[in-house]
Order: sequence, then C-alpha cells, then structure tokens
Amino acid sequence: MAKLYFSYAAMNAGKSTILLQASHNYHERGMQTLLYTSSLYAEMDKRSITSRIGVSAPAELYDNKIDLFEQVSRHIEKGPLHCIFVDEAQFLTRDQVWQLARVADRLKLPVMCYGLRTDFQGNLFEGSSELLAIADVLREVRTICECGSKATMVVRMDEVGNVLTKGDQVAIGKDVYVSLCRKHWEEQTGRWPDAGASSPKFSFAEEADAAAPDEKRTKT
Ligand SMILES: [Zn+2]
Repeated sequence: MAKLYFSYAAMNAGKSTILLQASHNYHERGMQTLLYTSSLYAEMDKRSITSRIGVSAPAELYDNKIDLFEQVSRHIEKGPLHCIFVDEAQFLTRDQVWQLARVADRLKLPVMCYGLRTDFQGNLFEGSSELLAIADVLREVRTICECGSKATMVVRMDEVGNVLTKGDQVAIGKDVYVSLCRKHWEEQTGRWPDAGASSPKFSFAEEADAAAPDEKRTKT
C-alpha cells in the first residue's frame, strides 16, 4: 500500500536536502521520480528544487489551481513513475492534499511531502494542516534553537533584526526567518512576559547573518 508522507519542520532544517537525497536514492535503483515545488519560488529558483548545500534537481511547479492527481496521472501515461516528491508542501491547498492522497491510494505511488508546520505567527499553513490530518506517516525534521532546544517555531525579522509579528502569511521581500524553540519564540514575539510588546529586537542576529544565501531569500 503506497502511503502519503509528511515531513515537517521549522525553517532551515534542511528539508530540501533530505528530499533531494531521497529522490536520488530512487534514481540509483533505476527508478523514476517526479518532483514538485511551489510556484511562489519560481522567479528565483526557476523549475528546480535547490538545497542549502547546493544540490538541485528539476521540478514541476504547482500553484493553487493545479489538479495534482490529474497531473500525475498524465505523467504515468508517458512512462513509469515510482515516487512523487513535493517541496514547500505548506503551500498546498486542502484539495491538493486530497489529490495527493488519491495518488497514493488509487495510483499506488508513494507521495513524500516536505514543508513547514506553522507560519511566523504560529498558525498552521493550510497544506500542513491537512497533511497533519490525513497523511499516513508524519515525520519531524529536527533543527535546534540558539539555546540548544528543539526549534519548532519560526520568527520573521526585517533586515535590521526586528521581529515582525504582523503581515501576510506569505511575504515577498528581504525578510529573514529564524527557527526558535517555543519558549524563545514567545519571548521574541512579545507574547511573554508582556503580551502586546511591539517588535522586540532580536538577540540572535548573528545567527541570521550567518545564514546561507538561499535561506535568506526564502519567503514564507
Ligand atoms: Zn530556545
């Protein structure tokens, strides 16, 4: 029975690297894979998935109008496929997550989705919410906060290190994202101890400066 997988993490956990490695493993065994990533990244990354360590592979783009079940069905007519990979799966719509479930259930192809669980305000993304609800297998990709604890949250900062607490879920711009543990996320976003405090200065700015170029461009 093919399964629908969701590997989720905070920002900069190396999800794309894991995806590309897994796809590569299929190719080594002579099997074919089909990769998707969100069209929200298309202008910068073209039709490919690129990891922080510089590995990349061609990928199809999806926007929120594409029927992924139909797309995958058409690919199968052209030739054999053994696994579907979806990066930036947080941007899937609920319907698209169900379309991927049908790919697993009816086309009998495993579907491996990788994405962020929550946005910078601590809310679930639509795609992640549905994947958490119906995926067969959930996997957490671990990354750590500055303090050494597991990072499960993401803060959005402007160019000078101010933590932003308002704005669209998907932002196009020069904002920087940093993964934090829940405790430090609450402090940095001003929820604790003084709820309502505005844009506290981020104290781990050096870590953000050291981020690889493609992390800095990541817009989520
Ligand atoms: Zn922490």
